[in-house]
Amino acid sequence: MPERCAECGQRYDLEQGFWYGTGYVSYALAVAISVSSFIAWWVLIGVSTDDNRVFWWLGLNCVLLVILQPWLMRLSRVIYLNFFVSFDKNYTHTAPREFDHKQ
Ligand SMILES: [Zn+2]
Repeated sequence: MPERCAECGQRYDLEQGFWYGTGYVSYALAVAISVSSFIAWWVLIGVSTDDNRVFWWLGLNCVLLVILQPWLMRLSRVIYLNFFVSFDKNYTHTAPREFDHKQ
């Protein structure tokens, strides 16, 4: 990932350890995907205590999350950065967003 935006010069890593917060966003996304896939599994295939269909969902959901991980990681960073930096249409005239404290 580049250190700064090529267009406006916005620094992405706003402070040391800034990206640790993306773990929480990534977790929320993973839970949302898991709940969605479980509901889809329930509707399309069904869930029963008489067989182990639910364990197939569990395994396939794990595989799905591992496959989606590169996109989830990037999406998490975008969402997390947007908590702190919003779009500025006058970005050519204003300074990039920085935290007030010194690192
Ligand atoms: Zn930019």
